Amino acid sequence: MFCKNCGEQMNDNQAICLKCGVKTGEGNAYCANCGKEVAPEAEVCLSCGVAIKKAANYGNYDKVVIALVCFFLGYLGVHNFMLGETKKGIVKIVLTVFCLGIGTIPALIDFIRILMDKYEVNPDKAF
Ligand SMILES: [Zn+2]
Ligand SMILES: [Zn+2]
Repeated sequence: MFCKNCGEQMNDNQAICLKCGVKTGEGNAYCANCGKEVAPEAEVCLSCGVAIKKAANYGNYDKVVIALVCFFLGYLGVHNFMLGETKKGIVKIVLTVFCLGIGTIPALIDFIRILMDKYEVNPDKAF
């Protein structure tokens, strides 16, 4: 495994790159599989063909924390507020309180997206 931020080789148990100090799996400048440089927006590494997972940025929170909060309190948009997505949070509260708990549906969609690493943190969007 290689550091995605600086390309340094790392052992699989390392949580943080000892060369650049970035957390394992964060950064998008290098392929974690072969250590070659990749374009920041590339979906696949052109050197080894492995899909490059883009680490979603949940700020100070762990993906697991956000996923759990989303699962249990997502209908109140709590995970959205934690991520600074006030609009999405308010929409969920309104849907939950005034529309017979329909806020659970977008919360469930968020939950699935978080699990699949497809969630996009965007404070400007309402959904
Ligand atoms: Zn590094
Ligand atoms: Zn590669």
